[in-house]
Parts: sequence; C-alpha cells; structure tokens
Amino acid sequence: MKTQTILITGGIVVNDSGMGYADLLIENEKVKAQALPGTFKDLHVDVSIDATDKFVLPGLIDPHVHFNSPFMGSKTIHDYDNGTIAAAFGGITTIIDFSTQPKGGSLLENLNQKEEEAHGKAYIDWSMHGIILDTDPKALAEIPQLIDKGVPTYKCFTTYRHADRMTDDQGMLRILETTARYGGMLMVHCEDDAIIEYHLNQELAAKHYDSIYHARSRPASAENEAIKRVIALMRECTAPVYIVHTSTAESVDIIEEARQAGLPIHSETCTHYLALTEEALKLENGYYFICSPPLRTQRDIDYLWRAAADGRIEVVSSDDAGMPSQERIKLGKGRFDKITNGMPGIEPRLSIMFTEGYGKGKISLPRLVALTSTNPAKLFGMYPDKGNLFPGADADLVIYNPKGKWTMRASNLHMNDDFCPFEGWKINGHVETVISRGQFVIKNGELVGKPGHGKRVIRKLLDAV
Ligand SMILES: [Zn+2]
Repeated sequence: MKTQTILITGGIVVNDSGMGYADLLIENEKVKAQALPGTFKDLHVDVSIDATDKFVLPGLIDPHVHFNSPFMGSKTIHDYDNGTIAAAFGGITTIIDFSTQPKGGSLLENLNQKEEEAHGKAYIDWSMHGIILDTDPKALAEIPQLIDKGVPTYKCFTTYRHADRMTDDQGMLRILETTARYGGMLMVHCEDDAIIEYHLNQELAAKHYDSIYHARSRPASAENEAIKRVIALMRECTAPVYIVHTSTAESVDIIEEARQAGLPIHSETCTHYLALTEEALKLENGYYFICSPPLRTQRDIDYLWRAAADGRIEVVSSDDAGMPSQERIKLGKGRFDKITNGMPGIEPRLSIMFTEGYGKGKISLPRLVALTSTNPAKLFGMYPDKGNLFPGADADLVIYNPKGKWTMRASNLHMNDDFCPFEGWKINGHVETVISRGQFVIKNGELVGKPGHGKRVIRKLLDAV
C-alpha cells in the first residue's frame, strides 16, 4: 500500500545552503513543507518519524557508477538489483550509470538495452550518461537525439587507445562542436595516453609487474597534461565540460584557472581519491586497489579536500566499478597491466564523507550535501526535483544517525563484493532510513523497498551549466 503522508519531526534538516531544526511534511512523492519544529503536531499523517537530533539530508545522487559494464568476458559486480540496494544502504536515492556505444554501433540502441536491464529491478531512481567511442557523422548525429531523450551528458576518454576507447583531438573537437550546438555537456576521462604508454612500456620492459607500478605508469603528469589539452580544445570550441574523477592536486588549479578565464568547466573527484593513497597498492592485495587514475599521495588528498571544501571541486562521486574477486585474482595478481581498473564504492561514500570530511572538520554538512547531492542535481539536469528538501522537491531523503561508531567491512556492507576499499575503517554514525519519492527503501536499517520502484530520470541541463 502506498504511504500518502509522512511527517519527520525533530531532525536537523540539511540543504546545501544551510541547516537547522525543522519538521518535514511529505505528501505523495513530494516534499510538501519544511517548517519550524512542532508546526504540524495536530496534523493527521499516515506515518510519523521521530528524527530527534538526527540529520535529514536530501537523498544522495551518485552521478558516476558502472552497472553491468562488460570487461574481458566478465562484467562489473553491480546490476540494477544489487547495485541499487547497496546504493540505498549508502543513503543514495538516484544513480547515473553509463551506456556505452558499441564501436561502430548505435548509442541509442544501447540505451534501450540499458532500460531493459533496469526494468523492474531498480529500488531507487536511475539515469544514464552516454559513452561515445565513435565521432563519425553517424555517431555525432545521435547526440541531439540523446539530448532529446533526457541523456544530455556523455563521456569520452583521452586514453585506452589500445582498447579502442580513446577519442583523439579531432574527435574531441567534433564532439565539442556538436555539444555547443545542441546544448549537452561532455564528460572527459583525462589521462594522456602517450605519457601512459611510454611509462607502461618502460615498467614492463623492466619486469615491474607489482601493483604499485600501475601508479608509476599513470603519473599525475599524465592526468594534468590531458586536462590542459581538453582546456586548450575548449578554447577553440567552447562547450560545457565536466572532468570526471580528478585525483591530483595540480588538476584543481588547472581547472580553476580555466574557470576563472570564463570556460564552462566542472569537475568531480571520488571518495577513494579523498581517502586512500597509493600505499594501498603495496599491500598484499594491492591489485584490488587498481583504478584509473591511480590512487595518489597524502598531499593530493589534503589538497582535494580543501578544494572540495571551497567549491573548486563541485562533486564527489564513487566511480563504482568493482569486478568479481576471482576475475581480479586471475587477471591481476602479479600483473598490474592485465587487471581491470576500478573499485566498488557506491555504499561507503556517505559514511566516508561524513566521517573523514565532516567528522574531521574538513567540510561542513551543507557542503557535504552540495558535493554529493545538490551539485550533481544541478550539473546533470535534475534540479530542483532532486538535490534539496525544499517544498516541491521529490521526497528523496536520508536520515543519518550521527551517534555511535562501527567498523566498515565488506561483510557488513551490501555491495556484491567480498572486497571493500575501506576495510577496517572506523565510521561515525549510520544511515538509518532512506525514502525515495515518498516510499521507504530503508527503514531503521532494514531494506523495505521494492524492486521496480526506481524510475528513470529524464534529465535536462540548466542554462547555468
Ligand atoms: Zn568511471
């Protein structure tokens, strides 16, 4: 039975613009009102929740996850069933996955396939970015159709030449031109392929196969140089660009300088770049920590937190892309260059941001909300429906109980993986309740949501992007 009205009392409601004690009234799928505590005490509601001294946040949006993403005969660990469950336990109410254009094939057709993958499975709302591999006229002609279908954002890569995934400068300019004409936003994975290939060949020639050489073969300079190149191309043909998963301290300044010069450039980092250093690659199971760009240094972490706090970094995503353990061991043990790149991270994101960021005084809670919910909603065309708890917004929210500590382990999470990058980390507080468009998904720590409740979000970019 559908719950019609929910009243949440006594909580500290956090939006990106501020926080304070407020009662929230939910009617059908929407936030009906946010008012001073006690305002609705005589109102008859279907369900009343006491959230005294707990934080009530807009449901998190993870704008960068890879579900059912194929690789070497295997695929990423999360699908729309287990992936959206793990997301919900992590306080997330909307994910944006990627639909990859088959080389020489149609992105629009792949999008339909993704809809079938999600159909009847998702516990929370979901949406899709495209991944563009071809830049011939036929492929580019699909971009305006994608935008019309609510997919105004699409990614390309400056690397993975050998895997046939790289977009060269000419291709990038063609996509920028099409993007400028039709009003989308290009997302770019920035690592310079030539620099990486050079270092990779050097390491392999020296028989350096341990996981740490993954980081050595993909140095910070490769990332910084690729970002500079994209900015140079944006100067020739200006269109909105979002740099995914920045990991270096220098990238912050490079992007900020371009922004100050008036270019419409945006950037995200990921939970793991704010928490883990390349030292993890030296562990016995270091191959589990292989991701691209690679984990960096404490200096990078410190600088990325500062940029996340002051707004130079606008979004923190998970880039969730775990692979089955047996595949990792089979491919990657003792051969860093053979393993798929990516880690699971959809569920730990809020816990890590809350504990490492807010808990250690690096960011405020409104800033945490901006980075993980409001800014993704604004940048990816879901605001004001999502990313806030003001009247009229979708009733997507998470109640976070800040009391108590627990130890994060793969075994006490819900991700479809026996590995967690933050194994053994002490976490402050926990996700208690998650509501998606007025329906409980998690209630007092228990999954009560239904598969198929999640709907596809048709996105349209704001002019401000
Ligand atoms: Zn990714």
